[in-house]
Amino acid sequence: MQVKAPRGTYDIMPDDVNKWHYVERIIRQTAETFGYAEIRTPIFEHTELFERGVGDTTDIVSKEMYTFQDRSNRSLTLRPENTASCVRAFIEHSVAGGILPVKWYYMGPMFRYDRPQAGRYRQFHQFGVEAFGSNNPAMDAEVISLALEILANLGLTDYELHLNSVGCPQCREIYREKLIAHIRPVKEQLCADCQTRFEKNPLRVLDCKLNSCQAAIAGFPNIYDYLCPDCSEHYSQVRKNLSDNKSSFIHDNQLVRGLDYYTNTAFEITIPQIGAQSAVAGGGRYNGLVKACGGTDMQGIGFAMGMERLLLAMASVENGPINAPKLDVFLALMDDKYEPQAVQILSGLRRAGIKTDRDYNYRSAKAQMKYADKLGARIVLLLGEDEIQRGIITIRDMQSREQSEASTEELMAAIKAILE
Ligand code: AMP
Repeated sequence: MQVKAPRGTYDIMPDDVNKWHYVERIIRQTAETFGYAEIRTPIFEHTELFERGVGDTTDIVSKEMYTFQDRSNRSLTLRPENTASCVRAFIEHSVAGGILPVKWYYMGPMFRYDRPQAGRYRQFHQFGVEAFGSNNPAMDAEVISLALEILANLGLTDYELHLNSVGCPQCREIYREKLIAHIRPVKEQLCADCQTRFEKNPLRVLDCKLNSCQAAIAGFPNIYDYLCPDCSEHYSQVRKNLSDNKSSFIHDNQLVRGLDYYTNTAFEITIPQIGAQSAVAGGGRYNGLVKACGGTDMQGIGFAMGMERLLLAMASVENGPINAPKLDVFLALMDDKYEPQAVQILSGLRRAGIKTDRDYNYRSAKAQMKYADKLGARIVLLLGEDEIQRGIITIRDMQSREQSEASTEELMAAIKAILE
């Protein structure tokens, strides 16, 4: 038997979980202040949902899905992202019939069979939002601002916001033809992936990271020159709204999503110092997606943010609040004959919401003090022969190192006085 987590997966050990709790708490609070409500969808879905909702020409669907047959021979897939599931839930629950827009957020594990490296895993976690039912450029700006606000609230300031517009299916088609005409003569110089992309989804050649591909396509036509008046106006309104909110951004005409259901705004946030995998969030508008998945014509916009990469970036930030929750009280008992008293004290304190732990190994008083110190206990209660004889409990304040005594009745008040 292999005693090792599968490649590309990892354990979040208790010492690290505190950091996760902290980041999750800040994210939830920020999303909720923007009026987003949480949705939780299944970890697996019908494979077809992702083929349609993510697109079968994408790397995710063509190379990276964890797909399996269940015992009834259904093809199911561990979710590689959560937008498609949100769209499915939106359609399944007839949300379009209610008051729009609706604004959802989600947080949880995603699965992609990709080559693991720093910042890239096969099971990773995303936070993301989806806003359905508005085409207002102010909504695009709000979604982007929410991502930026989360970074700010986590103390992350060294990020770059890359922004682009991919137009609508009509103006993009004209651009696509121009791009194909530009790339076709140099096709042989592209990497194998880009040669496939060129056939299936030519805009994707623009965001290839290889220098050789970039050199081959140099001088490619600029998408801004082909945006129709409506798309051009939408893009300028998004930029204006971001500028009004004092958010700076970089126009990036190579930031693309080639599929038909993506419209207008595309954005990516990077934190260059976290390494090669520097993208912490990516998103954009997908006005054609709900319809492509079998719903009504419905506007939508969202983004997904990689939690592991946020935590990687957090490593460089002074993060005082991330400390582990400390124990309030540690109950040291010297012998199993004090168990009846111990169990009552323990239950009473825990029911009162006081974080309490105890010794189970009846070690020496000294060893228990050391252990309590390690757990960060504010108070140690001592229960030994002397205490039982006299009907009291010894209270040791681990900060002042002072010791006092209390009867069982006085104990709660004495502890609260110290903790306050
Ligand atoms: P995407 O859904 O590909 O647009 O990714 C959105 C964000 O999720 C990225 O910007 C990354 O921060 C994160 N992400 C994507 N894939 C992975 C992965 N394999 N491991 C860790 N984080 C990832």
